[in-house]
Order: sequence, then structure tokens, then C-alpha cells
Amino acid sequence: MFYRDRLSFEEEDFKLKVGFLHFSSCSGCQVAFLDMFEEAVEILDTVELVYSNMLTKRRDIPRMDVAFVEGALCVEDPHHINLLREVGKKAKVIVAIGGCAAFGGVRRLSCGNQLPQPQSQTFVPVTEVEFLRTKVKYAIPGCPPNPSLLYSFLLALLEVNEDFLLPFELMTSSTKASGFDIISEVVNKGFCVGCGTCSTACPTRAISFNRECGKPSFNSNLCVHCGSCLAACPQSFKPYPQPVYV
Ligand code: SF4
Ligand code: SF4
Ligand code: SF4
Repeated sequence: MFYRDRLSFEEEDFKLKVGFLHFSSCSGCQVAFLDMFEEAVEILDTVELVYSNMLTKRRDIPRMDVAFVEGALCVEDPHHINLLREVGKKAKVIVAIGGCAAFGGVRRLSCGNQLPQPQSQTFVPVTEVEFLRTKVKYAIPGCPPNPSLLYSFLLALLEVNEDFLLPFELMTSSTKASGFDIISEVVNKGFCVGCGTCSTACPTRAISFNRECGKPSFNSNLCVHCGSCLAACPQSFKPYPQPVYV
């Protein structure tokens, strides 16, 4: 990872330069990100917030080590496309934060005509933007993600804790991330242990726990594709061996 290679990381005055960029979203992830700093006081001497439309005054996009990007990209919005291209050039690593940026989230359900931009109809998650393929290294699920999770993630970046970071790396290619994945990848494959964590993690109650069969039930009409259930499930990221048929 890039910061492991940096000799300056060993220096006492090293600061990880992070920025927060806002695209088509509700700003809920940015609020969660800012909430994190209350918990993160002890690492403020190693992290420098160089860009945030809520907290910093600058309008130009500075160079940064890590860009946390919130929201999906509207393909009918040339300003956002150009801005994201610039972020791709200025940031060493991009983290797609929250369901909208990571998997499309509620933006997947958009069909235009919403105020104040009725012309905006098509949104893609940051993880699927072709010109950022090599830059988006991590995706953090949630709608919004828990501030404590964001803090732990930032700590893992600073400590280069690869075991902790691996699931977030895998999430960048998990572009569906919905309750369907819980059913098809965990329950239907016989890996569910009936712990009920997925239903607790779901912000919209799209997943409920069926006590009769000891397994989760899924209502796709309520799912906003935030990925929280998949991230919270203790069985979803286990490296199971492929079945061998003889
Ligand atoms: S993931 Fe949820 S909280 Fe974050 S920007 Fe999208 S809708 Fe808002
Ligand atoms: S089922 Fe719930 S937790 Fe899972 S992706 Fe859908 S809304 Fe998010
Ligand atoms: S979180 Fe628990 S109940 Fe839900 S699918 Fe995973 S193992 Fe099953």
C-alpha cells in the first residue's frame, strides 16, 4: 500500500491528507464522517482534513492521500463528471463511502423528474466508474456508515491493518450488495447460522428475522442497496471451499 512505502510515514510530522467529496447524495455520509472526529481526537495529529465542502473554505481540489467520496455519479451532469476526474488525478486512493457511492444505493431507484434536477436520471456508483477503476480501493457499506466504523477504518489505514481492510477491498466489486446477496450467497448456500445480525443492521427493515425457521426473510421493495447486511453478516466473507462433484 502506498503509505507503507512512504518513508515520510515514519517521520514525526507526517500527516495523512484526507478529503471528503460530495456527489449525488443526501450528505448523510458526510455527517457520519464529521461525527467520527469526536471519537478520533487522538489521531488528529496524524490526519489532516484538506477538503470538505462543509468544513474547509477552499474551492479548488487539493492533492490528497485519501479521498472519501460520497454519493453516486450522475452521468447527465458534466460538472460532476469533470470533478470526479479531477479527484481521480489528485487523490492517491479513493474510498467509496456509503451505499450510494459503493453500490448505487437509493440512486439505483431513480428514474428522473425529482426536484431540483429533473433531468438527472442515470446514476452509477463510484465503484463502477470506468476512469476510476485503479483508484477506488475500498468501499464502506451503510446508509450512512456508522461513525465508529469509519474511525476504525481510518485507524486501519494508518496502521496498514490489511486483515481489517480486506473486506472493504472486496466490497468494491460487490456492486449489487443487497438483501438478495444475503439470501443467495449465505442463506441458500447453507452458511447462515441464524444469528439475526443482518436484520439488526438493516436501516429500512427490508430484512426481518423469521423465528420459525431461524433464518432471515427479505422484502426487496424496502431495500435501498446499502450493503449493511452483507457487511454485518459474520458468514458473508468467509473463504469457503468450492464444492467438488464426483
Ligand atoms: S448512503 Fe445513505 S446516507 Fe449516504 S449519501 Fe447515500 S442516501 Fe445518504
Ligand atoms: S436488505 Fe437492508 S441492510 Fe441489506 S442492502 Fe437492503 S437496505 Fe441495506
Ligand atoms: S447475519 Fe446471521 S442471520 Fe443473517 S444471514 Fe448472516 S448468519 Fe444468517
